[in-house]
Amino acid sequence: MRCPQCDSTRMRRSRSRNRRERRIRFFLPVRYYRCHECNCRVPRLTARALGEAVGRYALLIVGAVLLWRAFRFVFSFLLGY
Ligand SMILES: [Zn+2]
Repeated sequence: MRCPQCDSTRMRRSRSRNRRERRIRFFLPVRYYRCHECNCRVPRLTARALGEAVGRYALLIVGAVLLWRAFRFVFSFLLGY
């Protein structure tokens, strides 16, 4: 891949620096890359990150469904159904 600013190919994976970026990375399938020529940071959509994000979403949905079922069970118990 190439840097959008200086067209260099010296791009490296970059770690998330702050909480905001980690949050973005958690919800969006992007990876940040840093250019070693001009030092700019570029978010990139990658297939692997996409797979991880889909897995996370699936886990979230399964967790929400289980939580909802437990909730309904407790409520029906309390209401005496
Ligand atoms: Zn650059």
